[in-house]
Amino acid sequence: MTLLYYDPRFLDHHTGDHPECPGRLQQIVSQLAANGLDRRCCQPEWEPIRRTQLLGVHFEEQIAHLEGIAQQGGGQADSVTVVSEVSVDIAKLAAGAVCNAVGRVLKGEDSKALCLVRPPGHHALAERAMGFCLFNNIALGARAALDQGVERVLIVDWDVHHGNGTQAIFYNDPRVAFFSAHRWPFYPGTGAEDETGTGDGLGATRNVPVEFGTSRKVYQELVRRELEDFAARIKPELVLISAGFDAHRSDPIGSLGLEVEDFIWLSQLTLEIAETYAAGRLVSTLEGGYNPTALAESVAVHLEALLAADP
Ligand SMILES: [Zn+2]
Repeated sequence: MTLLYYDPRFLDHHTGDHPECPGRLQQIVSQLAANGLDRRCCQPEWEPIRRTQLLGVHFEEQIAHLEGIAQQGGGQADSVTVVSEVSVDIAKLAAGAVCNAVGRVLKGEDSKALCLVRPPGHHALAERAMGFCLFNNIALGARAALDQGVERVLIVDWDVHHGNGTQAIFYNDPRVAFFSAHRWPFYPGTGAEDETGTGDGLGATRNVPVEFGTSRKVYQELVRRELEDFAARIKPELVLISAGFDAHRSDPIGSLGLEVEDFIWLSQLTLEIAETYAAGRLVSTLEGGYNPTALAESVAVHLEALLAADP
């Protein structure tokens, strides 16, 4: 089995005419149902993240600022980041899913989990929301793992955009290693090869910038080599994936020319790493992907790979 986290309340995060829309998740959910993949998973219940847990990553002022926007009936957290009346509650439910998944995987209830959540998280900084993201779901999940005694977490971020928020949150922390392959140069502007961490965290960040137009073969060879090398140095006890699917060639705001099949080898590669170092423990969480059809097909092959890796 694999744990599958989804709640229809994620559709209530209304963003208006925006690429990060409820239709993304609707399409994923109907695709998984059509393929019968959802029925092969265990779908646990969970609670929204607690404030004390949120404070493990985010500043009090940031949380209060977002709550203020929501209480006033909604608004914008930055030029592209919409907050509706209920968005902050839904963001807490999203972050809670990742933390719950980490907890269950560490307890051994299951070795793998996929969190189909929105809003996404990897651009959110400790001090402010950014790039469609309110709270940094994956960073909160990594923090939950540290709180439960894990000493080395590896976050693999294959979203087409650099996960600047996640990188910044753990930039000086050797316990949470961050690997990102992303289009370059591109939004948000960070993620150069020479950004490798600082202080005790030096060497625990690995960025693989990829130019638009790079062939799928070259992308695959590069990511495989870099990720295998990095994982061998980190030897993680838990692997987390910032699973964005906006590197797909038909993505309207991303694209690195990838096809749906590329998310199969990316999934298998990351599963192999989890198997080699982390007793197979892997928690994946949805980030970007803005062509709902390509997104739904890509998520389906990703989940299928997770299920195929079941013992
Ligand atoms: Zn993205």
